[in-house]
Amino acid sequence: MVKKEEQREEKKVTFNIDKQGNFSEWFTEIVKRAELADLRYNVKGFLVFQPWSVLSMEKMYHFLETVLQRKGHKPYWFPTVIPEKNFRIESSHVKGFTPEVFWITKGGGEELEEKLALRPTSETAFYQMFSLWIRSYKDLPFKTYQRANVFRCETKATRPFLRSREFYWIETHCAHASEKDAMEQVKDDMNTTKEVLHDIFCLPFIFFERPEWDKFPGAKRTFAADVLNPDGKMVQQPSTHLLNPEFAKGFDVKFKDKDEKEKYCFITCYGPAISRIFASVIIVHGDNKGLIFPWNIAPVQIVITPISNDEKLIKKAGELKSELENNNIAVDIDKSERSPGEKFYFWEMKGVPLRIELGKKEIESKELTIFRRDKGTKEKINEKDLIKYIEKISKEYDKTLINRANNLFQERIEDVSSMKELKSIIENEKIARAGFCSVEKDGEKCAEVVEKETGAKVRGRKIELEAPSGKTSKCVICGKKAKEVVYIAKEY
Ligand SMILES: [Zn+2]
Repeated sequence: MVKKEEQREEKKVTFNIDKQGNFSEWFTEIVKRAELADLRYNVKGFLVFQPWSVLSMEKMYHFLETVLQRKGHKPYWFPTVIPEKNFRIESSHVKGFTPEVFWITKGGGEELEEKLALRPTSETAFYQMFSLWIRSYKDLPFKTYQRANVFRCETKATRPFLRSREFYWIETHCAHASEKDAMEQVKDDMNTTKEVLHDIFCLPFIFFERPEWDKFPGAKRTFAADVLNPDGKMVQQPSTHLLNPEFAKGFDVKFKDKDEKEKYCFITCYGPAISRIFASVIIVHGDNKGLIFPWNIAPVQIVITPISNDEKLIKKAGELKSELENNNIAVDIDKSERSPGEKFYFWEMKGVPLRIELGKKEIESKELTIFRRDKGTKEKINEKDLIKYIEKISKEYDKTLINRANNLFQERIEDVSSMKELKSIIENEKIARAGFCSVEKDGEKCAEVVEKETGAKVRGRKIELEAPSGKTSKCVICGKKAKEVVYIAKEY
């Protein structure tokens, strides 16, 4: 009997799920065990985000907003509701978003005169105000953003962080004097993505220009960063768009140019979805033992685990905590009744980057034992070198994560030149790189064949255009001379 109890205890404290082989179970379990979100809220498709994810997502917001503000975007808070007539102004936007809109039709007991949408995205809210605010070329570029929650009545199966009916994001909206300026903004949005998602959140991605048939509803050109899931599926992360001129015309967003003539603005928008990016952070970096947070967005960066709750140990832990906090490090002390082993498993599962193990021995010798979650290794350091050591490790730490993730991504991409090869690559949970006849409207037929035969989608062409050659010189579907090199993968 005792043995069974022990086994159960062991099962409770350790987290050990094969992430690569059993991704779906891994994801479901880690969301529950690490207390990232509670799915028991009683409205379908909505969930409660818990402190361990919120603390990290707050940091993510901070990094993105800091960069946006540095680049001249001004923050706004727009109403959550958008009147129905605004939606009707740009036809493809209406068509794309209407099926997903939640409508408010009553206020108190009264029917509203006009239905109000819970914003699924805020183009149609921002641009009517742009028409009031923008007067002259001197007002341009007009760069805004807001952090907001948005609502989409998803019909696809929901999954915490990746797809839910309410999610958290930033949306930027900018007006420009020329299409050239607008395209510069689109490029700058891609740089922001690199600066924050890659360099701070340690996420590898490829920016694709989406094919004509897969653009944002209402966009002239759409560029989206795809991140890879371990199950071989692409997750679309931030996208940036040059919008159709119909938006500026429909909302009357005009300016008086230097030549005194009234002209329509060119509008761009960019939407990093924080809660969805968080999903990729935990999915890309986590391992069989649980989460691994990048240094700068870890809810807690260092946990101190005293071997017992002995008064001396707790006092020492408190001193170390203060010293670290004075150096702007997020620290926690585990004062629970758990055994040292249980504490170790627990914080490894939670993905805390560093653990300081504290026992009587450490106090006497003035040496600290430090565990690194990225490599699973322990080091002993002199107590007086602690801050210097942390400074050094914090830089190394993210490098481990980004290198590991980059390699996994690159290994997955393979060239294909036939349907047989394409099918086998997709079945093996990889990304196919293929020649394609066109990413304009005339290529859509071939894209439909891809989807029908493999279940995968043409993600688009890379921003750094690649010339078809060798295996990619012909369209993988119709065999015509390839105009483009595209990437094909399943999507989440
Ligand atoms: Zn073709």
